[in-house]
Amino acid sequence: MHIGIIGTGYVGLVTGACFSEFGVFVTCVDKNEEKIRLLKKGIIPFYEPGLNDLVKRNIQQGRLDFTTQIGKAVESSLVLFIAVGTPRRGDGSVDMKYVEEVARDIAKSMDSYKVIVTKSTVPVGTGERIKKIISENLKGDVNFDIVSNPEFLREGSAIEDFMRPNRVVIGAESPQAIAIMKDLYKPLYLIETPFVITNIETAELIKYASNSFLATKISFINEMALLCEKVGADVHMVAKGMGLDQRIGSKFLHPGPGFGGSCLPKDTDALLKMADEYGVKLNIVDAAIKVNNYQKKFIIEKIKNAMGIIRGKIIAMLGLSFKPNTDDIREAPSLYFIKELIKEKVNIRLYDPVVNKEVINKSRALIDKDLITALLNSKRISFCKDPYDAVKGANAIIIVTEWNQFRNLELERLKKLLKEPYFFDLRNIYEPQRMKSMGFKYYCVGRAENVKIK
Ligand code: NAD
Repeated sequence: MHIGIIGTGYVGLVTGACFSEFGVFVTCVDKNEEKIRLLKKGIIPFYEPGLNDLVKRNIQQGRLDFTTQIGKAVESSLVLFIAVGTPRRGDGSVDMKYVEEVARDIAKSMDSYKVIVTKSTVPVGTGERIKKIISENLKGDVNFDIVSNPEFLREGSAIEDFMRPNRVVIGAESPQAIAIMKDLYKPLYLIETPFVITNIETAELIKYASNSFLATKISFINEMALLCEKVGADVHMVAKGMGLDQRIGSKFLHPGPGFGGSCLPKDTDALLKMADEYGVKLNIVDAAIKVNNYQKKFIIEKIKNAMGIIRGKIIAMLGLSFKPNTDDIREAPSLYFIKELIKEKVNIRLYDPVVNKEVINKSRALIDKDLITALLNSKRISFCKDPYDAVKGANAIIIVTEWNQFRNLELERLKKLLKEPYFFDLRNIYEPQRMKSMGFKYYCVGRAENVKIK
């Protein structure tokens, strides 16, 4: 089978590379010429472990190619995946202009039966909308089917998530389209991956419901962390005690600086907005968003309360990406902290294992303009070569992202390099008693001062 993937970002490229690894012939399309130029040479425009080898191997074996011309992919493919961005508009709703543009472009080149699949996260009703756009733009009497096949991969472990997903969701009306999708995903059938086959609207909603539930779990444990600090409890033990109950489960119960990234913030907002349009108030999703916003503010307050005056101080920030193993900084908590600390005239020394000025420059279109300017040009911000360089002469250290390399820092060395021993561990990597006994003024999330961890 030959398929086309329109939009070669995180989702499109991982999807294309993994399907080619399954033996399918894949043409990946993107309108960004520079991206396609690099990909043709086997250069991956972002950081995702394992993707480099996968892409190179499948290019060499002739199953994966790249183009800027959508017509080429439409012509040769039976299935066309739409994997373009669906960014948030100012009011929280989804900007569908890229999806709609692709639907029109596909229609213009279609001259035989195609299955058109949305992989992008799209509001309920998009399947119908795409059907209408395609019908209106078709040149002749050509048959086609629409499928919703939302993607659940996590950046940082995207290949494993694609190759061994918890489930595959397929929303479609046509038995022929369902059969083609099952055929495409045959390698996953063979490893007994559960398939959820349903109608298009349900599939579209499953994606938003899943992300909003995950966001709710994070906000729930962050709210418990606030209480833990007041009552002398340890949030990790609370999470463990809760998570062992199989009805609850242990995943996504890690306290921290609040959720960020390219999906949870935008998808919770979109679900709220979508429900609102149908006259439904989603109080739980609304609360999850509010708790998340508060959590980030609370962290800044915590830093200010601990350090007193922070104006003119130097803070070393470790971790910029919204989570480890990715260079994605979209809606990363680090960006919120940087913005707030700049307002307070703090000098920030940054270190992240993969995010540097070049990555920030590439992310220009996705991030607040003023913040980009500050990150690239402000005298208050410097990019450092490693964690120790960042900490040199700083009044405090903040760990924002739990990259593995931050889990085993040489603490004595850090302490000597710091001007003052403030240590804000937003990912609860270190053991509070030990840090305090070493002389750090140590602050974490949801582990009260007087709790002894055994
Ligand atoms: P991305 O911004 O990394 O990639 C989108 C790509 O689409 C870009 O390369 C852009 O140039 C391209 N594009 C835009 N318009 C185009 C057009 N008309 N023709 C061809 N290419 C075009 O986005 P992403 O992170 O891969 O996300 C894509 C979708 O998948 C979104 O709806 C997102 O919510 C969803 N999703 C993302 C993740 C994730 O972890 N990133 C996970 C699951 C679902």
